[in-house]
Amino acid sequence: MTTESKQNGLADCSEFSELGLIPELLRALEDAQYETPTPVQAQAIPIALSGKDMLACAQTGTGKTAGFILPILQRFVHAESGPVRALVLTPTRELAVQIGESARTYGKYVPVRSTVVYGGVGLGPQADQLRRGVELLTATPGRLLDHLNRGNVRLADVEVLVLDEADRMLDMGFLPDVRRILAALPQVRQTLLFSATMPQEIERLAQDTLREPEVIDVGRRATPVATLRHVIYLVEAERKNDLLHYLLQHGSLKHVLIFTRTKVRAERLSKRLSQTNRRVAALHGDKTQRVRTQVLNNFKSGKVDVLVATDVAARGLDVEGISHVVNFDVPNRPEDYVHRIGRTARAMATGEALTFASSDEVEAVRAIESLLGKEVPRKMIKGFEPTHFTIRRFAKPEASRGARIASGAIRHFSPGGRRRKSA
Ligand code: AMP
Repeated sequence: MTTESKQNGLADCSEFSELGLIPELLRALEDAQYETPTPVQAQAIPIALSGKDMLACAQTGTGKTAGFILPILQRFVHAESGPVRALVLTPTRELAVQIGESARTYGKYVPVRSTVVYGGVGLGPQADQLRRGVELLTATPGRLLDHLNRGNVRLADVEVLVLDEADRMLDMGFLPDVRRILAALPQVRQTLLFSATMPQEIERLAQDTLREPEVIDVGRRATPVATLRHVIYLVEAERKNDLLHYLLQHGSLKHVLIFTRTKVRAERLSKRLSQTNRRVAALHGDKTQRVRTQVLNNFKSGKVDVLVATDVAARGLDVEGISHVVNFDVPNRPEDYVHRIGRTARAMATGEALTFASSDEVEAVRAIESLLGKEVPRKMIKGFEPTHFTIRRFAKPEASRGARIASGAIRHFSPGGRRRKSA
């Protein structure tokens, strides 16, 4: 096992065939061309299959979805069809859809029926689906409560509960809904809780919901995968647009996901970029679910090659081959940085994350670096250099600018061209 593969979460810890999975699931994994389990899969699958509760610290992009979906499919492969047996709660519609897709991919040779319910679309078709009966239900909390209150679904037969991205459910204010749903579930059940970070509230939720859990920790500290390169470009706020245009024209930015802080900024930036020769779209919470799904499909298929998004819309987004993530705005919450850049370099691919930082974003950059436990390399592009004031603000407090330049910590960089130290 190489150090790199260990770090990027896709290590050859064992074979899928050694994890106790049935042939129907192994065949589906073979079809999906998964060769070896990721560390979270190697650890989580045997625990989940054993029926024990589990608390898993794992970030997105580590393959955690298969870590809970495969054991669920196996457990209910011979279950009588009808009531919901397994419930997966997840914070966003996009994640819910992706989990539903995973269930279909991994479950193609087993008779377990699954469906997904989330807000922003009509209740009717979801209610019909629920009434027809499913064994595996993936849901966002608010929409599931709607269905529960209308009597569209019964949760009295749930044997397995998965709380996915629990920290994000907390951030998005869903914990009260989650607790209401918990009250509708049988006391005796298996519970699997996944969270990238463990704030106090999540630890409390874990104490309240898990019984003698097995704990696995696949990088509690938010560490970007090893195949990901990330850099911070120092630039004045008013030059960010020009810098982005320049990089889109002269850099190697192919399939690009750009993050902005607000919906308005996402919309404005995507309109501006539409005037270039790139195929651009925007994804944010003001778009209808139908449009969001369409945009995502276009980005996945390559019809759109530059997607401008806000954090909420892009949460958990799983698109193969994103070559670059661009943080047009530095995220205010350091955890969002890790989630954002985790959209590239997924599943062993390489990727690059570029963050544009202006002088008023220095505190946000420091918060990110303190979460990561290290400094993110800084660069400047010739012609877009910020003022000396900005450069000084980004210099390490203890080091003078001269010392940083002399040590090569701040460099000039021309895409495709040679590098030189700043004068
Ligand atoms: P997740 O963290 O569950 O969102 O998964 C991230 C990505 O990794 C998805 O695109 C999966 O299809 C992919 N993936 C999951 N497990 C494996 C595996 N064992 N080998 C290769 N790719 C995988």
